[in-house]
Amino acid sequence: MNDAGSKLSVFSLGGINEIGKNMYVLQYGEDMIVIDCGSSFPDENLLGVDLIIQDISYLLENQDKVRALVVTHGHEDHIGGIPYFLKQLNVPIYATRLTLGLIELKLKEHGLLRGTELNLIHPDEAIELGSIRTSFFRASHSIPDCVGIAFETPEGIVVHTGDFKFDLTPVNEEYADLHKMADIGKKGVLLLLSESTNAERPGFTQSERVVGDNIADAFRKATGKIFISTFASNVHRIQQIIDAAQMTNRHVALLGRSMVNVVSVAEELGYVHLPEGMLIDAQQVNVLEPEKVVIICTGSQGEPMAALSRLSTNTFRQVSVLPGDTVILASSPIPGNEKSVSRIVDNLFQLGATVIYGSGSASGMHVSGHAFQEELKLMLTLMKPTYFIPIHGEYRMLQLHKKLAESVGVDGKNIFILNNGDVVDIQNGVASQTRRVDAGSVFVDGLGIGDVGKVVLRDRKVLAEEGMLIIVISLSKADNRLLSAPDTISRGFVYEREAEDLYKEVNQLVVSTIKEAKPSTRYRRNDLKHAVRKSVEKLLYTRTKRRPMIIPFIIEI
Ligand SMILES: [Zn+2]
Ligand SMILES: [Zn+2]
Repeated sequence: MNDAGSKLSVFSLGGINEIGKNMYVLQYGEDMIVIDCGSSFPDENLLGVDLIIQDISYLLENQDKVRALVVTHGHEDHIGGIPYFLKQLNVPIYATRLTLGLIELKLKEHGLLRGTELNLIHPDEAIELGSIRTSFFRASHSIPDCVGIAFETPEGIVVHTGDFKFDLTPVNEEYADLHKMADIGKKGVLLLLSESTNAERPGFTQSERVVGDNIADAFRKATGKIFISTFASNVHRIQQIIDAAQMTNRHVALLGRSMVNVVSVAEELGYVHLPEGMLIDAQQVNVLEPEKVVIICTGSQGEPMAALSRLSTNTFRQVSVLPGDTVILASSPIPGNEKSVSRIVDNLFQLGATVIYGSGSASGMHVSGHAFQEELKLMLTLMKPTYFIPIHGEYRMLQLHKKLAESVGVDGKNIFILNNGDVVDIQNGVASQTRRVDAGSVFVDGLGIGDVGKVVLRDRKVLAEEGMLIIVISLSKADNRLLSAPDTISRGFVYEREAEDLYKEVNQLVVSTIKEAKPSTRYRRNDLKHAVRKSVEKLLYTRTKRRPMIIPFIIEI
């Protein structure tokens, strides 16, 4: 039964129109539940910014209602913001075992472990969060211990899938709860929120086992030392690497801070099984015969300070890549990282290594952890929701996911393509989307000790080449109006006093770009910044034949 006047409200504070900083909120009456608290990595234009998190001012205004933060799994785009969230709002956290272990690692680094209430989710047990009965189902993904969540509200059941794929032959026999999903669907799902990462890709993903077989093959043929890089959080893949090492009688060394940390947590909790005596220190690598060693390292995305990048330029202290060694990139570059990955592969070839790499599944060393189109349809078919919100994806992915939902019978009128902050209200079975709450990006910098090197390096590189220009823009929060003339600050580009006219011109151009921007562009801050950057870039190039880094900074008042 409905409480008089109560309604169900669902919205995201991050994760829609982007992949990163996921955060979804479900509210019924006086109970508010937050799902996931991820972070995004800044693009190269954000000098000195380490991390991007959500604007949670709406939650702070309603903090007496926030009952829990429930976390679906341990990827950074789902847990990376937790320390910063807790510093603003201390609520109990609920997560499965490995996820909790990875969260604890973060809280320790931030000195927050003691003041935080951590609750272990057993996927087979339901819990009460305020008045909302909450149950879970296991899902397959590229990290163990992922769950989807079913919330039983007085309006009906709301399902959040978390990140998922359907892997019918999972590593470590971590089977997805297909029957449970079907049961939830049978009870009737009012609203489904499902991830959209691979909505562009037809067919089914391959099983993670395929990668294991290919790794084993490569290990059998390999000469010299084997270096293999992958995401530290891909615990299943790391287990398969360890299995292949055992099969070929090789010891394993771990390189990279996150690799060492994650593997030690995963081993402690029983998600990784390392045979006794197999693990060696980096210093021991050179003592053993090359054929006796596997080095698992970070840096598969070309991150300049990570182990693989430093190995490729032979600037890693204890270990070096020698002619005849084998290097495997067991990953696929995330769009935007292709160039830095190619550079690393080039360098490794120059060192005389045999390099096994390739985007997507070309090398057989990577499969995606996110459902392809047919799997997304399968989830929709199992859940048969009345209403559907595609989440966890960029705009085109959400639109394609909508099409997929329509193709399996979800009424197009009942599908909501949202922005972060758009609220869907459901009352007496009728859904409407008419209001918004505050949502946006908050930058974090200077807190991550290990990240300083990376930031400094990036700053230096760009500054050395072209200098930079910061354009400060003050916008009215209410109607996106420009509140004062833009302010331009430059470093290492042109001598400011000699370039007064140029800066005047830049400021005028910024004003006209903002005035001429479509309302939808103005509304999306990133689009607006992009428009400003593009037009100023063009002007500066025409006038000076140089391309400094241009950073539009929007202050909302
Ligand atoms: Zn994930
Ligand atoms: Zn994710």
